[in-house]
This record gives sequence, structure tokens and C-alpha cells, in this order.
Amino acid sequence: MIFRLRDFIFYPKAIYGFRRFLEESQYWAPEMRRGWVQERLERVLWHAVKNVPYYRKTLGPYESRFNAMVDNLDLRELPILTKEEIRQNYHLLQAENAAQFRPSETHTSGSTGTPTAFLLDGGSNVTHFASIWRVLNWSGYRFGNKFADLTGYVPRNGRLYQYDLRLNCIHLSSFNFKKENIRTYVEKLKKFDPVLIKAYPSAIDLFCRWMKELDLNGYRPKAVLTCAETLLEHQRAAVQEVLQCPVFDFYNQNERAALISTCENARYHVHEEYSYVEFLNPSESAQTADSPKAIVATTLHNFAMPLIRYQTNDLATLGDQERCSCGRTYSTVERIIGRVEDIVVTPDGRYVGRLDAAFKYSPGVRLSQVVQETVDEITVKVVKAASFRQRDVETIERELRTRLGDEIGIRFEYVDAILPGRNGKVKFVISKPGKEALATTS
Ligand SMILES: [Zn+2]
Repeated sequence: MIFRLRDFIFYPKAIYGFRRFLEESQYWAPEMRRGWVQERLERVLWHAVKNVPYYRKTLGPYESRFNAMVDNLDLRELPILTKEEIRQNYHLLQAENAAQFRPSETHTSGSTGTPTAFLLDGGSNVTHFASIWRVLNWSGYRFGNKFADLTGYVPRNGRLYQYDLRLNCIHLSSFNFKKENIRTYVEKLKKFDPVLIKAYPSAIDLFCRWMKELDLNGYRPKAVLTCAETLLEHQRAAVQEVLQCPVFDFYNQNERAALISTCENARYHVHEEYSYVEFLNPSESAQTADSPKAIVATTLHNFAMPLIRYQTNDLATLGDQERCSCGRTYSTVERIIGRVEDIVVTPDGRYVGRLDAAFKYSPGVRLSQVVQETVDEITVKVVKAASFRQRDVETIERELRTRLGDEIGIRFEYVDAILPGRNGKVKFVISKPGKEALATTS
């Protein structure tokens, strides 16, 4: 789910108000938006150092420099906050007056199956809802329109699809994702006729390849909106060829650090009202203008547990900063280098991506990785945290079974470390059959 209906029920006026503001601010002169961001940032920094024990310690020494930092919109003096630091300082990162911001806890599994908890508050919920609403509008979708969801829906009773009448949505199970089921999916889509398909890039890519192979047609949405994984050029091309519609893509995280999404010109715009985003050189050595930069973000809205200079572990290349002809005045990103994972293939013919959600209920697992050499079995590598309990892996196994079925072997292996691949990122799923499937189904 990219937005929660209950947030709209709680804060309809605030969300409408912020959505109207966003409609105008996207065309503001950059200096005007800069002023708005500076004002929010100033509020966040002073709140953090006054009310959040962790920042009192880490940001306190820089307090006298806050005004200059805000004036120059330059936070580079301040320390970076990593996921590991959040895990270790979860309680210290919560504002002492958090309750007045109506917080609730949320969990993310991160890109390497490392569960992390966060507090998100009312202001953050309003901003997120209104901002995602705008992302949807950029794709041509209007509230109340029908849409199809091919992302994280876990079916009950082995069902392939489920209608959600409140959202006017059909969920297609991405965990029963088999070639033999595609005919049913396409029939359902034809009948329901959603204007938008929201999907993981790897899922909609396979879907389109199978449609082509089986010579299925007769359904065209107005747009496809992808999220949660890096959208690759061949995936965009497959959708455009088979569904003959534009592909929109957005980048966001459960912890709501940054929101970056494409406009009708397929250019990535940084949603600058959502958070303050910095693009930093990952290391000092051998940088060129085209080198990927680390995405580091500071909240402008979440006061219950503000993340300041939070390292997302994702990268982006910036490209030229020429103004986009869509008229929006945001800074742009050429490409986001986030999650590119393999999919797991099962003996009963499922093609399953995004298994990380199966790991988010196991806080005793510090790091994990799914490795598949053959279709019959996966190995789950686990680095234990100090709080590890046997039930952490039992929960993972149960969650994996829901998604992968009963026919595949699941083996656990306890390791001391999981090493990053050649690009410096730890891959969460490495699957030989998955790689082969994605390469040969076209
Ligand atoms: Zn644009």
C-alpha cells in the first residue's frame, strides 16, 4: 500500500490543504521554495536538539551554527544517520514530546532484510498522503478511478485476486505469479478495466512478456506506475510495447525519507516539499560529475522521530539540471540506483519478487540474504543480532511459505557477515533460476 485510507479519514482537511499547496508549489520559482524549505528545516533542527535525546548529544555541539547552515541550506557539517544507528538508538531518537504529534510505529525490512522500526506522526501522514496523491495525479489517475495493484498483496486461501471496493482496486497476487495464471489476470483486468496498474517493475515486466508470449491482448490501462525497485530501461520498453501506455515511476521508502518521481516527460523530480534531500559523493576518491551520489535525506515533517541526514543506502546519478519542459521547478535526477533484485522461482512455477517483507517481523535478525542455486531450494543466510530468538527464523519460514508455497525447500544458514557485491551493495536475493528466467522469457 502506498497510502493509507485511514490517514485521509483522520486528516481530510489537512490533506486537502497540503494537496492544494503542492499543486501550486511545484511551479514556484526555486528561490521561493528554498525559503519555504529553510523555514521547515530550521524548525526541525531546533526541535531535534531541544526534544530528542539522541540529537541533543550528536547535534548539540553544532547548535551555534544552525542559523548559518539553514541560511546556506548546507547541512554537511552535521553527522550522517545510518540505519544501524537507528536500530541501536530507537528510543533515544524519539522526541520526548512525541505523543503530541500523534505517532504510530511502522516497520521496514530495508533493502537487505534488516528490520528497522520507526515512528511516523500525524504531520508526516498528511504530507505523505498528499504527496502520493500528487504522484498518482501526475500519472493521470484521479481519486475514485479504478486501479489494479500488482505489488505486495499476499493472497488468502490461495486466491489469485481480490477486489477492494473502498479503494476501487483489484489486487492481483504477485505471490501466485505464474505464466499459467496470466490469462485469468488479463480477463479480470479486461472486465474491471482499471485506468492504472501499480506494480513492481520486475512483476509488470514478466507480466507483459507472458502476455506477448501467450498472445493476450484487449486490455490497455492509461498508465503503469512502478515503485519499490529500480525501473530498468528494458522493463519500461516491455510495458510500452505490450500495454502501449506510458510508465511512471516513483522512489520512496517506508521511513519516508525522500520522494522522487517521474513526470509526463519521464524525468525524475525531487519532491522538495517532502524532505530536504542531499546527493553526496559516496567516497572521496575518483569522483566525476556522472558518478552516482548517495541519497541522504532530512525530514521536514516528522517531529515524533525526526530523521536528520539519514542515509538511505540508495544512489542516484544527477545528469544535467536543465529545467524540465513540464514546467515543474524541482531539481531532477537522471537515474536512481536502488534495489535491483533477482526473483525466486519455485518448483510449482511461481516467480516471486520482493521477499523482504517476510523478514520484517523478526527483529533478532540483523542481516539476511536469500540465495537460490536450483529451483528446489533456497538458502536463507542469517546474521544474528544480540536479541536473536529461534522464533525469529520460525516467523521468517512461515512468512516465506505464504509467498513461496510448500514445494520449495527452505534452509537456514547462520553466518557472521554478508558481503556486498561488486557494485558495493548487498543484494538481498541472489537467484540463478531467477536470473535465467528474467533473461530468457522474452
Ligand atoms: Zn518534468
